[in-house]
Amino acid sequence: MILSLPEFGATAAFDVCVVGSGPAGMTLATALHAAGKRVLVLEAGGREYSDRSQEVYRGEVRGDAYHGLDYSRLRYFGGTSNHWAGRCRPLDAVDFEPRAGIDGTGWPIAKRDLDPYGAAAARILRIPGGFSDEPLAHGVERLEYQWSDPLVRFGPDYLPLFEAEQGPVLCLQANVTGLSTGNGRVTAAAVQDYEGHSAQIRAGSFVLACGAIENSRLLLHFDAAAQGRLVPRNDILGRYMTVHPHTRVGDVILEAFDPEAESFFALDAATRRELGLLNCQMAISEPPQPDSRARALAYDLACIAPGIGSWIWERMGRDLVCGAPVIATWEQAPDAGNRVTLSSSAADIFGIPAPVLHLHGIPEDRRTVRESLIRYGEFLARSGSGRVRMAPWLSDESAFPEGWLMGQYHQMGGTRMSARAGDGVVDPNLKVWGQDNLYVVGSSVFPTGGHANPTYTIVQLALRLADRLAPRL
Ligand SMILES: Cc1cc2nc3c(=O)[nH]c(=O)nc-3n(C[C@H](O)[C@H](O)[C@H](O)COP(=O)(O)OP(=O)(O)OC[C@H]3O[C@@H](n4cnc5c(N)ncnc54)[C@H](O)[C@@H]3O)c2cc1C
Repeated sequence: MILSLPEFGATAAFDVCVVGSGPAGMTLATALHAAGKRVLVLEAGGREYSDRSQEVYRGEVRGDAYHGLDYSRLRYFGGTSNHWAGRCRPLDAVDFEPRAGIDGTGWPIAKRDLDPYGAAAARILRIPGGFSDEPLAHGVERLEYQWSDPLVRFGPDYLPLFEAEQGPVLCLQANVTGLSTGNGRVTAAAVQDYEGHSAQIRAGSFVLACGAIENSRLLLHFDAAAQGRLVPRNDILGRYMTVHPHTRVGDVILEAFDPEAESFFALDAATRRELGLLNCQMAISEPPQPDSRARALAYDLACIAPGIGSWIWERMGRDLVCGAPVIATWEQAPDAGNRVTLSSSAADIFGIPAPVLHLHGIPEDRRTVRESLIRYGEFLARSGSGRVRMAPWLSDESAFPEGWLMGQYHQMGGTRMSARAGDGVVDPNLKVWGQDNLYVVGSSVFPTGGHANPTYTIVQLALRLADRLAPRL
């Protein structure tokens, strides 16, 4: 059933109110509906894109360069899945572990806690599932990614479920702008549409599924309105944001390049554990450059590095790939300074302060990328298949490359999951610490982000939350 805000009866009763209809909210809502629960989905946007909803996503980025906040997310039915690319991969087991010497790493759950939801996540995302990476040599492995096909869009693909007589209830143009709380429980959500209608929505439990930046921003605003009584550790709220930095880290000279076999590489878990590294994926992109560049390089190298120079010279005239960029995507070290705060000067049409995203790189990130690239270079050299030239910024301790944090469109963190109330915003079951019936789902709960695209893990977490929540409703 699809209702507008004025159509809501004052007595409408729901077991659970899910805020947001992206992959996180939609997965949770459909799983709870299938479990026989009365589910309401509140979605801020309409069925289609509109400027007036999207403008609510405007915000500011401070620190290193990153995408505009109203560009890297979508605020309508189906959420950001309306323009996601469909690339999927689970996090690695080691991504959940504390990494030696890197503060703030380690999830309160392990990969084995999410694995039981892998098959269902694969069905939802329309991928084969059952990922396996290929061990190569010298601690390097080739990674497997899978692509959603046909590409799932959580809005249009799920509309028939809501249109059905017995389906869950969907309210579009329903902006959640406040939460009423008392005695450790949320009693109602304040909702407004764009025509000035408002309502107080009651439900047994409430789940925020608005994306990482918005989960943080809304909770920061709601907590301030509740004089700090909503989130016990509101000093952690909004912190430890990560975005999967993504940039050129070097060039390769290869014996051959197969454009059909797009390959992604990373260090295996044992090597990363041994070196105390975060996770870093490296990919060779771009077609081969003309042989003349290899010839010029060989002349240059003949004096300073005769071994490499003659290696290139011997291969001249073959299909040598010269200067193809190595692009890395990596996991950022948790840093409390990377955070979402509320603007003191800008607000949206509902009076909620705009988000400010603070981002900067730290030396631990550089060490991870440098060590990963060195080992990848060793692998290529020892197997006789190529050579790597490292980008100068990786060996220069003083500078990150300009625009280096032009990360992926993956925002994570802000409402991190923790084993103890003092260390995070939500518990391992995604319930806000100190609240009885308020939950958060999405990449905002990730304590760290590995390098894998986040949506597969988001869907696993939503399915796990449905399992945990259903018996409580
Ligand atoms: C261009 C692009 C390509 C991407 N490609 C990939 C990829 O290949 N693989 C991958 O894994 N990930 C990819 N992503 C990231 C992926 O889209 C997100 O991880 C995913 O959509 C997050 O799901 P979510 O449900 O947590 O949040 P969202 O999809 O952002 O959904 C949040 C929902 O909450 C609603 N909402 C917000 N505020 C309110 C409010 N106050 N009241 C009510 N509702 C509200 C929004 O309208 C929206 O519908 C890509 C992202 C972009 C931008």
